[in-house]
Amino acid sequence: MHVFTTVNQIQTFLTKERRKGRTIAFVPTLGALHQGHLTLMKHAGQLADLVVCSIFVNPTQFNEPKDLEKYPRPLREDIHLLTSVEVQVLFLPTDDEIYPPGVDLTVRANLFYLTEVMEGPTRPGHFEGVITVVKRLLDIVQPDYLIMGQKDYQQQAIIGAIIQQFQIPTKLVTHPTLRDHDGLALSSRNVRIDPKLRLTANILYLTLQKAKLLMSSHTPDQVRDICSSLITDHGFTIEYFAIVDGFTLQTVFEWADHQKILACVAAWLGDVRLIDNEILTF
Ligand code: AMP
Repeated sequence: MHVFTTVNQIQTFLTKERRKGRTIAFVPTLGALHQGHLTLMKHAGQLADLVVCSIFVNPTQFNEPKDLEKYPRPLREDIHLLTSVEVQVLFLPTDDEIYPPGVDLTVRANLFYLTEVMEGPTRPGHFEGVITVVKRLLDIVQPDYLIMGQKDYQQQAIIGAIIQQFQIPTKLVTHPTLRDHDGLALSSRNVRIDPKLRLTANILYLTLQKAKLLMSSHTPDQVRDICSSLITDHGFTIEYFAIVDGFTLQTVFEWADHQKILACVAAWLGDVRLIDNEILTF
């Protein structure tokens, strides 16, 4: 696996590979890798000749400085995990490589309808940071494919809109969420779940499945109410349980009015914030 830390290095390498006709699939991450990330890398390997992974803890997407400071950075373990899958290039840039001092990389995109729902209100500035870093990384890597997880559905929807708006010649591929044996979505945060609470952590998943079952007999509002209560009854502090259009992320009031519908949830279990979602219809 080639490891590059500067834009110059990775671009020189990838330009040569592209000239040889090789296609590139790119998986951006914040590190602290788990099997969920690795499944994206494996899928990337099936799509293209070269898999490029980046590990960059992007400061601009953290709205809490403490969160950024506390974010795990187990680089040795990450590199070890990456060698277990087919990843040919690891990009490990410094902050200055991504954000050269004095250069304004702000992406001006009018996507408030996607950014100001669900995760938006409680994480001000988060998606602006994500948009800026992913656009910058796409400009550097220029991949044929960008692989993102369905677990962060809102994030991939926003990046899909950016790709469309800026006519970036990259195909976004969204990969289903990898789950633990009991349904809990794999996440770097799961290690922080209090072991006493771990048995209830899959309630989010079970409730999303329940939402799917309830669709045929209940209105979207009723499903929202029933599911929210279920989650709160199990000791979670709920932030949102949303039933939204899969393309616009706007609230669904009538099942029949939408082609793709998702249920999305964010809730605190102790001091760990968990998110998950399920496609209800498509
Ligand atoms: P992160 O490092 O948390 O930004 O995640 C990097 C990528 O991995 C994002 O596209 C996530 O959506 C994706 N991802 C995170 N957890 C999972 C999972 N359990 N299954 C599939 N993809 C995931």
